[in-house]
Amino acid sequence: MRIGVFGGTFDPPHLGHMILAMEAYAQLHLDKLLWILTPDPPHKRGQEISPVDMRLELSLAALQNEPLFELSRVELDRPGPQYVSDTMRILREQNPDDELIYLIGGDSLHDLPNWDRPMEFIKECHAIGVMRRPDDDVNLPWLEKQLPGLTKKLRFIDVPLLEISASQIRQRIQEGMPFRYYLLPEVYEIICKKHYYL
Ligand code: ATP
Repeated sequence: MRIGVFGGTFDPPHLGHMILAMEAYAQLHLDKLLWILTPDPPHKRGQEISPVDMRLELSLAALQNEPLFELSRVELDRPGPQYVSDTMRILREQNPDDELIYLIGGDSLHDLPNWDRPMEFIKECHAIGVMRRPDDDVNLPWLEKQLPGLTKKLRFIDVPLLEISASQIRQRIQEGMPFRYYLLPEVYEIICKKHYYL
């Protein structure tokens, strides 16, 4: 099987995530897409993040009508901070006969040299699917110099440039701006009912 691995903070999961995940699923001919919720993301330490139970509730709501995507507990079930090189190693051990493709936004790809043990991470991935973002700044020659062998693993996914981010949605909620159509109805309803992000 060819398995896509889509990691994120999902605070909250938004339509950008759904559109990108489905494009990756189709273009990379995936059999399954694992949605990996990171409880304590190492690169977001010092930033305020919503409690993991709340992000899990919203992620489950986002995935409830999408049988092609499956929520994985691989990071939920171990203490933080959860490093992605460990996640990929565990997933490989759990799926020794499968091909694992890690999905990443262009902004995160640019930051890859600063991740913990990036060479180990690259080695664990059969391929890395890159979804470009409007404001990303991907410089492939520079990245290859930092992380030799990276570029031959990259698969670019042709996605519409979506000006949607979780931080922008949180800010809109706090400012009383409309935010409904950035989200799946199931996610929107929970956020309204429970007054999340206010
Ligand atoms: P925040 O605004 O809080 O940083 P986010 O919207 O980037 O959050 P994450 O949960 O951090 O959401 O995203 C998970 C993955 O999806 C990351 O690799 C991120 O780069 C990617 N991603 C999210 N939104 C987009 C988008 N609009 N276009 C391309 N990639 C995206």
